[in-house]
Amino acid sequence: MDLYEIDRLQYLMAEAQGKTLPDVEVGPELATLIERVEAQCGYRVMARPHSFGVANGAGSTNHEQQVITLLVHPEVPQEASRRYLYHECAHTQQDEAAFDRETITGYCDCERDADRRAWALAEQWGDGDLFPESERIHWERTAAEREDAMWALSGVAGTENALVLAKMATHLLLCADREVGQTLCNLLRDVEPVPSYAAVTRVGWESPEVVIGFDRSLLHGNWRVTTTGPPADPLPLTDAERAAKWLAGTMRDVASDWAYGVENNRYSRPQLARWADDEPPIITVWCDPETYGSIAGYVNLVQTLVMREPWSALLGLTWHVSESAESTVYEAELEWQDHNDSATRPTWRVFCTFGPLRHRRNKVDHQALRLWINSWRHVAGIYLRSPHETLSHIRWLWSSTERPATEKEIAS
Ligand SMILES: [Zn+2]
Repeated sequence: MDLYEIDRLQYLMAEAQGKTLPDVEVGPELATLIERVEAQCGYRVMARPHSFGVANGAGSTNHEQQVITLLVHPEVPQEASRRYLYHECAHTQQDEAAFDRETITGYCDCERDADRRAWALAEQWGDGDLFPESERIHWERTAAEREDAMWALSGVAGTENALVLAKMATHLLLCADREVGQTLCNLLRDVEPVPSYAAVTRVGWESPEVVIGFDRSLLHGNWRVTTTGPPADPLPLTDAERAAKWLAGTMRDVASDWAYGVENNRYSRPQLARWADDEPPIITVWCDPETYGSIAGYVNLVQTLVMREPWSALLGLTWHVSESAESTVYEAELEWQDHNDSATRPTWRVFCTFGPLRHRRNKVDHQALRLWINSWRHVAGIYLRSPHETLSHIRWLWSSTERPATEKEIAS
């Protein structure tokens, strides 16, 4: 999310709660520090009346825009804002390549490193008393809680990519997904007056049914919210809570297998085919129903395919869902578009049937899958087709297969 999007959401949230955001009043000591940071780091410091970012809800550094955003609020002592500013300033001095912020460990190490640099910098600039021993212990504890929380949230998100998780937590905190956000905020209101990153992720872990349906289209700034196809079926769940808990378990497996399932044939090897004549090319992945038998492999495959790609590339995602007592076929069509070059991007179609889901004992699996598909509702068109129609479509695609893809192509 960019700064303006954050602003918009924060103001909407305040309005919904009947609050107004206060004016920013910067005290003399903070003003001096802001000036010094701007002069020494070359970053612009923007004081905002609302929490921004996720780590401590108090600051964020955007390296691309060279902007540090800082929470300045009457309820937050300006001493705290100064500490956060030291932390953000420390981020500008880090060697970006030294940490892999996409991994949870790398992300958390980077934050701890910024903390330590902040303490040293404060010492150097004559502000050492901002970080006494007790304060440092508090920051260390916060860092540990953050790491635990990220691992917990990864179980609901189905990914261990720390940048995706941070984004998800921000959206949950800001109630960007109104349905999930509102339920979450109501739950948290009883626990803590100002929802924190740690609180959000703890709820995600303890009550997965609250956040498992989180609108995944929010994770990708460039995903197009599609309006194609018939209106999405509300996919009613008869036992939503049980299915959500079941799905959360699956997502934990998926998260730990991130970017692993497809390459390493953990569940089953998808077959991939290309059509040379089609413009744009169509790439189809066929998941063998005989060897799947659970939704974990399917969820893993689709999430891996969708989220491994450069985030600017994939703009649309379409599901074809067909249902009947005899057969359940799910087909995902991933549409690729590029602002400059839309014609040359391939279209992905992912098909899978779920034989075992026909059985009554796997009703929860089936509901869980519907819940998960629905969590893509804003980025995906959801189509309903008859199984017969879907199967003939699959047959047509396979009859015109140019050649099976090589393993290298699948992995690439
Ligand atoms: Zn930080």
